[in-house]
Amino acid sequence: MNKTAIITGASKGIGRQMAKAFAENGYNLLINYNNSKKEAEELCQQLNSKGIIAYAYKADVSDRKQVDFMVEFCIKRFKNIDLLINNAGVAQSILFTDITQDDWKRMIDINLTGVFNCTQSVVKYMISEKKGKIINISSIWGMVGGSCEVHYSTVKAGIIGFTKALAKELGPSNIQVNSIAPGVIQTDMLKGLNDKDLEELKYDTPLMRLGTADDIAECALFLASDKADFITGQVISPNGGFVI
Ligand code: NAP
Repeated sequence: MNKTAIITGASKGIGRQMAKAFAENGYNLLINYNNSKKEAEELCQQLNSKGIIAYAYKADVSDRKQVDFMVEFCIKRFKNIDLLINNAGVAQSILFTDITQDDWKRMIDINLTGVFNCTQSVVKYMISEKKGKIINISSIWGMVGGSCEVHYSTVKAGIIGFTKALAKELGPSNIQVNSIAPGVIQTDMLKGLNDKDLEELKYDTPLMRLGTADDIAECALFLASDKADFITGQVISPNGGFVI
């Protein structure tokens, strides 16, 4: 029987590439999106035309009710959830002194409460099955801190603490909880950077290139596979050597 994955924020960027990679590896998919309906539905149709069972589902991860409806929909369609990837996220580059209460709240609500909402909603089904895998997308800035991204770094560090604590609590239920902390990955999230910034980031990366969404998808495939059954509570950082 095919495994089932929920990938949050799968309409674009890293989440979209992960959805494609998991579909190619035999997963049924729930493609979560919030604003990018067209992109999510187009991806879903592409996968359906290849015989893959996938649904696009709109839910704002920061809204618990919407998340619970999404998870119930997934259970009704697929009966079980083998994998949750908490990928949905927003970024903002801003001086600490300019961060408003609204900026701060939005960052916490989407990037951190979103992870809590989705995980708590899914985990009860995994516990009753006594198996499951959860992958939380953090960032190198959650490991080492990023200037002009204090609120982003805070939530991404929070995701690492969440991952470690939950891994301890859910280990006895045979549920592995891990985090991927990507380096600089070429997606829409970098669109605020100019060519010079991107060249400098490349120069600061020992492997001399920026990462791709595929670099992260490959890492997620490994963590979701049986080969990673003894790995839990860990942070893996595909970053080209940017942070060592
Ligand atoms: P992206 O291309 O901007 O995609 C972000 C995704 O998150 C979109 O699919 C978006 O969906 C979704 N999203 C945003 N707010 C949402 C909400 N409230 N509810 C549901 N979905 C929501 O960015 P990306 O680079 O792929 O980022 C994916 C993850 O990787 C994020 O957690 C990010 O922090 C992390 N990351 C990225 C980098 C990088 O360099 N790119 C580095 C480290 C970590 P809609 O458009 O449908 O709203």
